[in-house]
Amino acid sequence: MFDKQTLKKFETLETPFYYYDLDLLKKTLDRYSNERDRYSYHAHYALKANANERILSIIKSYGFGADCVSGNEVSLALKMGFNSKDIVYAGVGKSDKEIITALNGGIFSFNCESIPEIEVINNLAVGLGKKASISLRINPDIDAHTHKYISTGRAQDKFGISPWMFESVIRTIDNCPGIELTGLHFHVGSQITDLNVFELLCIRINDLQGWFREKGLLLKNINLGGGLGVDYSDPDAFPIPDFTDYFKIINKNLEVYPGQSVHFEPGRALVAQCGTLVSRVLYVKMGKGKKFAILDAGMNDLIRPALYQASHKLQNLTSNGRLMKYDVVGPICESSDRFGKNILMPETGRGDIVAIRSAGAYGQVMSMRYNQKPLAPEYYSE
Ligand SMILES: *Cc1c(COP(=O)(O)O)cnc(C)c1O
Repeated sequence: MFDKQTLKKFETLETPFYYYDLDLLKKTLDRYSNERDRYSYHAHYALKANANERILSIIKSYGFGADCVSGNEVSLALKMGFNSKDIVYAGVGKSDKEIITALNGGIFSFNCESIPEIEVINNLAVGLGKKASISLRINPDIDAHTHKYISTGRAQDKFGISPWMFESVIRTIDNCPGIELTGLHFHVGSQITDLNVFELLCIRINDLQGWFREKGLLLKNINLGGGLGVDYSDPDAFPIPDFTDYFKIINKNLEVYPGQSVHFEPGRALVAQCGTLVSRVLYVKMGKGKKFAILDAGMNDLIRPALYQASHKLQNLTSNGRLMKYDVVGPICESSDRFGKNILMPETGRGDIVAIRSAGAYGQVMSMRYNQKPLAPEYYSE
């Protein structure tokens, strides 16, 4: 996967660091935007997956809007030049200050997750002499068949408004002069690899839209959120997700009414595969019936394995030895600071370079300074 020149460059650099393959990023964006444009859909990139400014400006150049989950993300999107009319803002806990930032920014839509939130947005909008466009983030009670920590659309999850509350939501909005209801929003989970989930989601949306139409409420936009998964086990064989099938399934199953626009919020699917966390082996240590390969990168740099049992492909880029098994761990004082158990790698020693693949999404953006470790820098293929 990494050519000789790139490997040579890695060897000159202090580890750990993030490396971004901008060529792969652009190919991925190209593929996505072709499929998006085939159906005239709109896409808002989920900034929380990776808010690196160089990556953001490339993504923007492919015609993406921004999907934000905090006031600071809204500010960053505006600063990076995303059109305010292409910015959507979700989140169960929007603070007054964050709502005011978004109202002043003139964003496309607040994706609202509760009645009290709608009331607060209304009060703040009226105070500023503005009208807020909102979509209702619906909890459709769908199991995305993904890890429980990244499922967001089941009845027991904290996200969205459940259908049994629709009557009172509509009554609330009727009494809110600062609110205009313009759409419905869904986001049922992340790292979804079973495309049937999206078919199910469309069928559910058709049904829910019916309820609103019966009440005479015509919605201008439908937002299906993000969630499309990537191949963490074989990033070289499948570097770009199957956007063709994804959009085909949606186009086939979603009922779209005249004048309606359809929106998406991809995050992981666009940026995961272009990023690698590059580390060096500090020590190989004998354990009870096993060997530990201890890296200089840890959960402070990439928390996904510790946070939701995620697994990333691990590659020793410098050894040609015979294959052996290692528990690959980081230096942080937590037992959960582990990248993999029983990982087959060529015989590994101090100083070997180990790549932790598919780290472009929810990697660097979640890194932290626990144990007073510094934040890893980033380098690019260009
Ligand atoms: C995180 C998030 C996304 C992006 O999810 P991916 O799985 O990275 O595509 C989209 N919409 C909302 C509301 C989110 O919170």
